[in-house]
Amino acid sequence: MSLESLNNGARTLERVVGEFPSHSSGVMATDAHAQHGKHQFWSDLPDLNGIQYTGLLTKGKMNRPLYLRIETVNACNNLCIICAYRDQERTKRTMDMDLFKKTVQDYVALGGGFLSLTPLVGDVLLDRKLTERLRYLESVPGIRELGVTTNAVLASRFDDGELQYLVNRFQRVSISVYGLDSDEYEKMTQRRTYNEMVEGIRRILVQSPRQISLEFRLLKKRPEEDIFRWVAEEVVPELSPEIVRQKARINSVITDYANWGIYGDQNTPLPHDARWFASEYRQQRPQCLIPIFACIVFSNGNVSFCPCDNFDDDPELRLGNLLESSLAQLYNGPRVAELWNWSRHGTPEFCRNCSFHIPIQYLWIMPFT
Ligand code: SF4
Ligand code: SF4
Repeated sequence: MSLESLNNGARTLERVVGEFPSHSSGVMATDAHAQHGKHQFWSDLPDLNGIQYTGLLTKGKMNRPLYLRIETVNACNNLCIICAYRDQERTKRTMDMDLFKKTVQDYVALGGGFLSLTPLVGDVLLDRKLTERLRYLESVPGIRELGVTTNAVLASRFDDGELQYLVNRFQRVSISVYGLDSDEYEKMTQRRTYNEMVEGIRRILVQSPRQISLEFRLLKKRPEEDIFRWVAEEVVPELSPEIVRQKARINSVITDYANWGIYGDQNTPLPHDARWFASEYRQQRPQCLIPIFACIVFSNGNVSFCPCDNFDDDPELRLGNLLESSLAQLYNGPRVAELWNWSRHGTPEFCRNCSFHIPIQYLWIMPFT
């Protein structure tokens, strides 16, 4: 594995796993005693077989991902130039409440644990049923931890009481920040909502009882001390620097971006210091690590093997629909078994040029425990 591949992998992992808490999610406790049957596809993966992770990936004799993502809405208030949202052709919709409950129950039947409500492309604060969903989840003990990432702009849709409820219900909240001044922000998001973004972050930081992760997706490289100064002086000037450090953690700062399999300097040059990761098309690649973390359920019930790059629900990575099958059936069916065996069934076309790709051997180098 080249150094470039490792660095690329580390950044991608940071984005995908950003919300995954740790073994404290309870997944480990659920699955530590799982029995491993021969049918389990984990045992066919030579780089995974026999190492500690396998106990996290089963419930009884059923395979499962580490956690689940549910995309309750696939619309966004931004139009970021580093995002495939603008090329999404899926119908924009909000997930039906009955489908949401069924998805949650299917996940609980597989052991439950950590649940993310971060859309693949979209922002959760556009979900008009968000509060209703969170109230429903209060009655589901199998969902032991909740996480979400938002761009914070539409915090304005909620009054202080509602916002306080929301940020209290999520144990892990990440905010993606798309610029530290209005020029950078507007170039990045193609929206004139810089002041609303700052105010949204301010209100979330003030309301949250826990530390918020700030994920900076910038066009200009900046030293971390400048970024902290921006948070302290521009976002929450009413708080002392010590309190700001308790409330907010600068978790990542990025100016290099994954290409979604379709972007590059030729068709979509990025301004300032921002760059696309180069990705060389390869007919055959090593099995990708990313889908081990989660699969994602889209707002129409379709389940995607990959929670990361599959912005338009490519049929090649689709496991089926939860209106017709259970999550356990889909995650233990023939399609997912093929997708977990690239050496025998080939690398999906969609994955051959994806710069999110991380070889599964990465687990040996950087355990996520
Ligand atoms: S990067 Fe996030 S905020 Fe920006 S358009 Fe995509 S989904 Fe929306
Ligand atoms: S290579 Fe495939 S599985 Fe891996 S992140 Fe890209 S689309 Fe997902």
